[in-house]
Amino acid sequence: MKPRTLTVLGATGTVGRSTLEVARLHADRLSVRALTANRDAAGLFELCRAHSPAVAVLADEVAARELRERLQAARLTVEVRSGAGALAEVAADADLVMSSIVGAAGLMPTLAAVRAGRRVLIANKEPLVMAGRVLLAEAQRSGATLIPIDSEHNAIFQCLPRGFRCGTADPGVRKVVLTASGGPFRDTPLADLERVTPAQAVRHPNWVMGPKISVDSATMMNKGLELIEAQLLFGLPGDSIEVVLHPESVIHSLVEYADGSMLAHLGQPDMRVPIAHALAHPERWESGVSGLKLAELGRLNFQPVDLRRFPALGLARDALRAGGILPNVLNAANEVAVEAFLNGRIAFTRIADAIARTVEAAGAARLPGDDSLEAVLEVDAWARRAASAQLEGRRAAHA
Ligand code: NDP
Repeated sequence: MKPRTLTVLGATGTVGRSTLEVARLHADRLSVRALTANRDAAGLFELCRAHSPAVAVLADEVAARELRERLQAARLTVEVRSGAGALAEVAADADLVMSSIVGAAGLMPTLAAVRAGRRVLIANKEPLVMAGRVLLAEAQRSGATLIPIDSEHNAIFQCLPRGFRCGTADPGVRKVVLTASGGPFRDTPLADLERVTPAQAVRHPNWVMGPKISVDSATMMNKGLELIEAQLLFGLPGDSIEVVLHPESVIHSLVEYADGSMLAHLGQPDMRVPIAHALAHPERWESGVSGLKLAELGRLNFQPVDLRRFPALGLARDALRAGGILPNVLNAANEVAVEAFLNGRIAFTRIADAIARTVEAAGAARLPGDDSLEAVLEVDAWARRAASAQLEGRRAAHA
C-alpha cells in the first residue's frame, strides 16, 4: 500500500519530535510531507536531514532564509517556505496532520487541516478552547477526523466505543474522569508559591514537555483547558467531567458508563503512546514504548484537587460553566500571563490573578459573542490587550 503522507506542525517541539520518532518506526506506512516550526532553523534543519520532508516551513522569514542556506550547504533538496499562509497550505496538504504548535498560533493551520478534511491529530489544545465550535462545525462539514493526542483525551477516546467520532456524544457515558499529576508544586507549602521560579515550574515530575504547557501543569490551568477540551470533544456537560489527582500519571483518564462500569487507560507517561495510537487508528502499531510493570508499581494513589492551591482550575471550570466567549478570554489571558512569568516579569501566583481580572473585565466589555472565526479572533486580541494592560498596570502600581 502507498504510504500515507504526514505533516507535523510544530515539528521542533516535544510533541513534534515524539511524532517523528514514531513515524520513523513506520517509514513503510508514513511518508513525511512537511515539517514546520516558528524560528528554530537549526532544529528544523536537523529534522529535515533525518526525515527528508518535501517541504519545510518556518513562520519567521529570517529563520527561513537561514534554513535555506543550511540545506543548500548540505546539498539537501527540501523546499523552504515561510509565513502564516505557507503554514496553512502545508497543513491542508497531507493525509495526516499532527497539530502540535503551542498556543493560539496553531489555530489557523489547524483550521486549514480541518477544512481540508484531513485526519487531524490534536495536541494543540488552545485552538479548541478558543474556537472549539468553529473547528467542530468545520470538521462536520469537511468530514475531517479529529483524534485527540493529549494523553487524557486520547485515553478517553480509547475507552469509548469503537467508531466514536469527536464532537458527538455517546449516550451510554455517565461521566469522564481526567487524572492530573498535580505538577511540580503539588506538595509545596502554599506560602512558598509566591517565590517559585520559572526553572522550578517547568520541571514536571512525570512528563517532559515544552515550557508553556509545563507552567500550565504547575498552575493546573492545563487541566482547566483540558476540561473545556473534553466538553467539546466528548459532547458532555461540564459537570460530567471530574478531575482527580493521581500523582503517578499511570492511569491517563477514565470513562464511567451508565451501568457503573469504569474503563481506564494505563500506560507509561510517554507521548509516543497516544501519538502511535492516533497515527495507526484503528490499527495498533509499535510506539517504541514498553508496557507497565504493575507489580513493581505496587499501588496507585488518588486525591481530590485543592482549589486554593490551584485557583486556575476553578477559573477554567467557571469559564466552562458560563460558556460563550469566556473560555477564549481565559485562554488568551493565560498565554499572556504565562509568558510574563516565564520572562521573569511576574510572580507565579500572579498568573491566576491576571486571568481572573481579565475574565471579569470581559463581562463589562462589548465583545462579539457569535461563533464566527472573526469574533473568536477579535475576542482573543481584546483579551491579550486586556491581560497585558492589567499586568502592566499592576507592575506600575508596585513600582
Ligand atoms: P513546544 O514548546 O515544545 O513546541 C512548540 C512548537 O510550536 C515548536 O515547534 C515551535 O517552533 C512551534 N511554534 C511556536 N510558536 C509558533 C508560531 N507562532 N508559529 C508557528 N509555530 C510555532 O510545545 P509542546 O510540544 O510541549 O506542546 C505543543 C502543543 O501540544 C501545546 O498546545 C501543548 O499544550 C500540547 N500538548 C503537549 C504535550 C506534551 O507532552 N508536550 C502533551 C499534550 C498536549 P520553534 O521551535 O521554532 O519555536
